Amino acid sequence: MDIQNTIQTLREELNQHNYNYYVLDKPTISDFEFDLKLKQLQDLEDKYPEYFDENSPTQRVGGTITKNFQTVPHEHRMYSLDNSYSKEELSDWEKRIQKVLGDVPLEYTCELKYDGASISITYENGKLKRAVTRGDGFQGDDVTNNIKTIKSIPLKLKGNFPEKFDVRGEIILPFAGFEKMNQELMEIGELPYSNPRNTASGSLKLQDSAEVAKRPLDCLLYFLIGHKLPFNSQFDGLETARKWGFKVPKEAKLAHNLEEVFEFIDYWDIHRHNLPYETDGVVVKVNSFYFQDELGFTAKSPRWAIAYKFKSEQVSTKLSSISYQVGRTGAITPVANLEPVQLAGTIVKRASLHNADQIEKLDIRVGDTVFVEKGGEIIPKIIAVDFTKRNENSAPTKYITHCPECHTELVRGEGEANHYCPNFYGCPPQIIGRIQHYISRKAMDIEGLGGETVALLFNNGLVHNFADLYELTVEQILPLERMAQKSAENLVKGVKNSVNIPFERVLYAIGIRFVGETVAKKLAKHYKSIDALSQATLMDLVLVDEIGDRIAQSVIDFFENIENRIIIERLKSYGIQFEIVEKVNPNATNKLSGKTFVVSGVFEKYSRDDLKKAIEDNGGKVGSSISAKTDYVIAGDNMGPAKLEKANKLNVPIISEDDFMILINES
Ligand code: AMP
Ligand code: ZN
Repeated sequence: MDIQNTIQTLREELNQHNYNYYVLDKPTISDFEFDLKLKQLQDLEDKYPEYFDENSPTQRVGGTITKNFQTVPHEHRMYSLDNSYSKEELSDWEKRIQKVLGDVPLEYTCELKYDGASISITYENGKLKRAVTRGDGFQGDDVTNNIKTIKSIPLKLKGNFPEKFDVRGEIILPFAGFEKMNQELMEIGELPYSNPRNTASGSLKLQDSAEVAKRPLDCLLYFLIGHKLPFNSQFDGLETARKWGFKVPKEAKLAHNLEEVFEFIDYWDIHRHNLPYETDGVVVKVNSFYFQDELGFTAKSPRWAIAYKFKSEQVSTKLSSISYQVGRTGAITPVANLEPVQLAGTIVKRASLHNADQIEKLDIRVGDTVFVEKGGEIIPKIIAVDFTKRNENSAPTKYITHCPECHTELVRGEGEANHYCPNFYGCPPQIIGRIQHYISRKAMDIEGLGGETVALLFNNGLVHNFADLYELTVEQILPLERMAQKSAENLVKGVKNSVNIPFERVLYAIGIRFVGETVAKKLAKHYKSIDALSQATLMDLVLVDEIGDRIAQSVIDFFENIENRIIIERLKSYGIQFEIVEKVNPNATNKLSGKTFVVSGVFEKYSRDDLKKAIEDNGGKVGSSISAKTDYVIAGDNMGPAKLEKANKLNVPIISEDDFMILINES
């Protein structure tokens, strides 16, 4: 087969696999096989640049930098939607329509209102041409490169599509992905994002599309617009869009009258809490395009569509005080202390206030009556102040200027939302927070020592940093509250045992800002020892895969600090691992890293142990039984029928010993 054909076939295969995974949610190959194919395509494209295609699946990983997003006009204006908040308002809306159309029977398409950032994507000859944000409705920003990294958006369409049209939809961040992003941020001591919607819309304007590619964004489509579209109603449009490869939520429903619209609303008012993404209402659209044309638009929105907003659960209560928390990195978070009140099944006593700007924006004052709401987030938030109940003598809230814990003057970096306490080495919650991070499960995992005991040790003057832990004696700990001989001994033993923790986790544990678990692994693997890492220059560091300026600078700052260097030297003297311990094996690779294999049956050319060793030498794992975590089964003769059935049921690919050898010998 000629090269161009091979490239074309690979692209089509990969497009189909992306579609199966991200749109249908039904993958048919393992991630590993997908990665292999993608790499194969990438290699061919590198070698034969004449076959470059901007819509190749290899372009999904991003990498383009956009300094200024270009403003472009929308060929078809992007309107907003009128809102309604009750069934009466919907009935009134229907009456207005019937005034124009006469007393005709009306059908409506009911859809969920997805809460994200709207986007308009132009397709020409079945290829994604351009993606533009809503902007002011007449013109928006060209964010094509960022949009292409979202895997559920097709780069090429299937079936019988018109030559040119726009598709409209909402870029969203499902809860699970949002929580995962926040988890990772908090692990490195960063502040979490406040809600999925803002994070989704912020993502569209990131300059580096490779960053966008890493975010678990999704796109839900709800509208096609263009000339000569092969359907006459909204509902058929949705069906058709689905056929061309777009992700159109299945929840949309055709209602034959307003009663059925109400049923849809009532159903989703309850069940929306089970959806994987945020929705704040329902959009009702007159189904027939003929009627839509008759109805037309007002200055801002179509007359044939209306949004119904769900009532979010809201209560009012009194703000008793504002307290300020200091995190492990010194970031200050203001917290509202409320008079306890029942909200969405729980009693709420506190709400997040985010930062100084938020307090100023709401003009919130102690003693105010405030409205509290529970949205998609776990911590409730304050929506507004009930100004009718404000005490005449109240004065605007003055944000603190000094750290509530150590009284150091706070700083606020340019463009940063939060204030920080710069007293890194003297501020108690920062010191305690760092030690708590050091002993935590993903870091040094010290048994017999918990977060509260760390605070206790610090408050009793026994430790000031994590190196001090290694000098603790049973006699020193014993007098502390709730300490017995046994628990004191366990604590000392737990600390001693941490000398077995490998370097990459030690690197994570010492809490260099922005160095989370994944980055620590990367740095450990690249530099192999703390000495090499501490001597790296900014230039060296940014050349390491996935290490950007911000992380690099933070590493440099960390090692420039003499106190950090002293702590590291001390840890070395206690036997903590500051180097990678390498197994000597000249043939070792990490080709199979992250992959789990199960070996089953009798083989011709290799023994089972040979195969297992080859798996491990190449970075893979050997599993004992087939499960959803198994990536491959290497099968010889006489593989048990039960195993075979299980592998088939779980869609685990079964490969021969020869296939396996090809896998590890492939370049
Ligand atoms: P608003 O921003 O309140 O004027 O609401 C209009 C916006 O709702 C549109 O610009 C879309 O981005 C968004 N939207 C979300 N889901 C839908 C949907 N199913 N149909 C139409 N618009 C939707
Ligand atoms: Zn402080």
